[in-house]
Amino acid sequence: MKTLKIAIQKSGRLNEKSVELLKNCGLSFENYKSSLISNVSNFPLEILFLRDDDIPEYVQDGIADLGIVGENVISETGVDVSFLQMLGFGKCTLKLAVQTHSTIENIADLNGKSIATSYPVILKNFLDDNKIKAEIRTISGSVEIAPGLGLSDAIFDIVSTGGTLKSNGLKPFAEVMKSEAVLIGRKGIENEPLIVELIQRIQSVLRAKETKYVVLNAEAKNIDQILALLPGVKSPTVVPLAEEGWVAIHTVIPERDFWEKISLLKSAGAQGIVVMPIEKIIL
Ligand code: ATP
Ligand code: MG
Repeated sequence: MKTLKIAIQKSGRLNEKSVELLKNCGLSFENYKSSLISNVSNFPLEILFLRDDDIPEYVQDGIADLGIVGENVISETGVDVSFLQMLGFGKCTLKLAVQTHSTIENIADLNGKSIATSYPVILKNFLDDNKIKAEIRTISGSVEIAPGLGLSDAIFDIVSTGGTLKSNGLKPFAEVMKSEAVLIGRKGIENEPLIVELIQRIQSVLRAKETKYVVLNAEAKNIDQILALLPGVKSPTVVPLAEEGWVAIHTVIPERDFWEKISLLKSAGAQGIVVMPIEKIIL
């Protein structure tokens, strides 16, 4: 059987989560920091550890079949690949920012100004779309210090919490793109059986991450009121307890409405609520 290759970041912000995702898919491999390739022992897959900038082109050119990389890097390299699955980690926003005392307040003010960035392609597309003529100064890192050094009037960079901008005396004034890690594949690979299998495994892990398994006790007279609050994967399981008139209810609820649900359940008479993580949900 043909062995697939997946390219992931060797070290950096996406490495750990990418490795964790593949391990949670039941793939068994050594995460050698020093080697560039690792063999998965229980699936026909090789993992290539690369600089994230190289991943889109490796996938486009078929050197790797799959890759995990930020959407920002895909846009910047302008490659033609298939987006197979959004992965929900590595979230960030690409923003324009200026020094706190700058007179630049909106994107129109950028006309005739200079902007330092490591993402010249995304920035150029944005400026062209908005018919703004500004000079792009491409630098490979530490973009935040450019205005302070007099190298540029503004910067265009990745922001997650905004802490780095603040500590460099900068403030964001426009958002250009949101990004998260995504599973990409070589064009045309989507329907190959091994790819389909791997995507299904990834989806079952992601689905499980978004949900919790909840067990609670309640008096039988409160069942209807409690069940009305619980959507469940299919429908909640209700089992009688040894104590007469009491039941245990088992269900699965989305993490996002978790706290809201818990307080509603308590006021509907739920007791001894136990919340557990789920490893996988296979539909
Ligand atoms: P490499 O050595 O692989 O080229 P890098 O230094 O280019 O790594 P990292 O800083 O590790 O890249 O970031 C990898 C990706 O993580 C980014 O391209 C982006 O998609 C995402 N990311 C999420 N939050 C942030 C953040 N606060 N700063 C930078 N990148 C972030
Ligand atoms: Mg990089």
